[in-house]
Amino acid sequence: MKQKRQAPIEIRKEEFRQAGYHLIDRIAEFLSTIDSVPVTRGESSTEVQKFLGDGGLPSEGLSMETLMEQTTDLLLDHSLFNGHPRFLGYITSSAAPIGVLGDLLAAAVNPNVGAQILSPIATGIEKQTVKWLAEFIGVSMDYGGLLVSGGNMANFTGFLAARTAKSSGNIKEEGMAGKEKELRLYCSKTTHTWIEKAANLFGLGTRVIRWIGTDDSNQMNLAELAQAIREDINNGYQPFMVVGTAGDVSTGVVDDLQGIGDLCRQYNLWFHIDGAYGIPAAVVPEFRDVFAGIEMADSIALDPHKWLYSPLEAGCVLVKDPQHLINTFSSKPAYYNFTQDEQTVNFYEFGLQNSRGFRALKVWLALRQVGRDGYEHMIREDIELSQLFYKLADAHPELEAITQNLSITTLRYVPAGLGREEKDDYLNQLNQALVNTLQSGGELFLSNAIISDKYCLRGCIVNFRTSRQDIEEMIGIIVREGRRLHQEMG
Ligand SMILES: *Cc1c(COP(=O)(O)O)cnc(C)c1O
Repeated sequence: MKQKRQAPIEIRKEEFRQAGYHLIDRIAEFLSTIDSVPVTRGESSTEVQKFLGDGGLPSEGLSMETLMEQTTDLLLDHSLFNGHPRFLGYITSSAAPIGVLGDLLAAAVNPNVGAQILSPIATGIEKQTVKWLAEFIGVSMDYGGLLVSGGNMANFTGFLAARTAKSSGNIKEEGMAGKEKELRLYCSKTTHTWIEKAANLFGLGTRVIRWIGTDDSNQMNLAELAQAIREDINNGYQPFMVVGTAGDVSTGVVDDLQGIGDLCRQYNLWFHIDGAYGIPAAVVPEFRDVFAGIEMADSIALDPHKWLYSPLEAGCVLVKDPQHLINTFSSKPAYYNFTQDEQTVNFYEFGLQNSRGFRALKVWLALRQVGRDGYEHMIREDIELSQLFYKLADAHPELEAITQNLSITTLRYVPAGLGREEKDDYLNQLNQALVNTLQSGGELFLSNAIISDKYCLRGCIVNFRTSRQDIEEMIGIIVREGRRLHQEMG
């Protein structure tokens, strides 16, 4: 019989099976009872540290069964559960259970999806996933791209492709040095912080960003955009890209993508859409018009770990002409013996990563599990629940409904009979205290938004577990806590 090596990290088949079944049992139990536990225990980092102890690195190993049992307890007892039906904070979705299994399978096979030869079927699945995501949001299936860790990385990837495509000279060799004209890019004031990180990290500096104001509907003001572009050209700068947002993080507003696309065409600029949160809503026919113009984008960022309910992490960038990715990211070292034919994709040539995990599997599985129709249904329901949240807030005498777009609702608590003087400052303090109380209380989880100087509560529903009843009961909890705080503070 063949002699197997006795590595301490190996787990024999029977033990693996036992521990694995047991873990799956615990996860199944956890997921089926997630609505009956607090969203979070709101423990401080000091409290959490106690559970971990402050011992140094262990020199000897532990029994695998004990270790897995302890660790499962640790995670289930001290986590914030974004899969809880009453978690509506930031833009973090509930995780599709099939994605949980997908990650387990992906880790077990462990393909390195940097190169076709190292990951034949995984590369094929990722290529298919990218095409399906293009089809999902309604752009041409000729867009190419890849899976990345999230929205920041997806936006960075589009940004870098734009910089290569629109810079004069050979940026790979010369970098940003010796450019006759300084580059300029344009985005609305509501753009996510990734844009500053990108401008800073990729050698342009944040001063290249022209922040464009928003109009009454909170969309980028196109007259101001056009004027800024003309001004910069006249002053000897080189405009190279405009970022349109399709679902801004605070209020869910989608820019006028058609209008931005037209301007980009007119001035030969790269049109990038940050659709990290909102663009999957383009699958819902009633919302198609909101996204008119997306097919003009040179690059699009979207996050399966947001509105496609993929477990973290999964972002995706789509580029109209994928050759721009290769021009930007490819290098061919002598130590890579990767032969190519027309069909071969080596994903390390498409983005920043070299070795890459199999993120696409969980996304691909969920797309196949429920299909386009399943997603259309869930996304529409999320939007309807957000509209209900707004409607109930609007109807309540002590709540002020502020905004509702896509699946984001903002509102604030306004106590009955509040006097005029000092009102705004007090309301801001009260609502900030309310967010803090709610976030640590564990009954629900909302985040905040500042809208026209008003401190608001903000709920974003990218959660397939949230129900009408949750929304109705959350209204009651917000009012109850608002009253209690007002008694204390008022
Ligand atoms: C969430 C989000 C990002 C950042 O995405 P991460 O996955 O957190 O890196 C960027 N832009 C928008 C519009 C977003 O909603």
